[in-house]
Amino acid sequence: MSSRPPHPPGPSRPAKIAIPRLERPGGASARAGSSRQRVQRACLNCRSRKIKCNGGQPRCQNCLDNPSPCVYITSRKDRLKTLVHHRVLSRMVLTRLAERRSRTTIWCSS
Ligand SMILES: [Zn+2]
Ligand SMILES: [Zn+2]
Repeated sequence: MSSRPPHPPGPSRPAKIAIPRLERPGGASARAGSSRQRVQRACLNCRSRKIKCNGGQPRCQNCLDNPSPCVYITSRKDRLKTLVHHRVLSRMVLTRLAERRSRTTIWCSS
């Protein structure tokens, strides 16, 4: 009794199932080192020398030891990131302000 349906169900079931990303870094979370600093930007001098820059301002330690200009440059990507972040933040603030304002208006009118 091998009665196959004339029209087998085609690709009805989804080939890809959206799996929510719940991947957790195996224990290597931000817990390791509470005083973990951000990745410091190396100045141009340290970069060209490929030495570790302590990110000191206005001059890093390496540039203090050497009579060389200590120049930090912000990459365009970083700047863009900051800009976007700032935008989102300001938008959030604006939304919150508007919310509060509308709420206040309702409160006052009622
Ligand atoms: Zn440096
Ligand atoms: Zn420097």
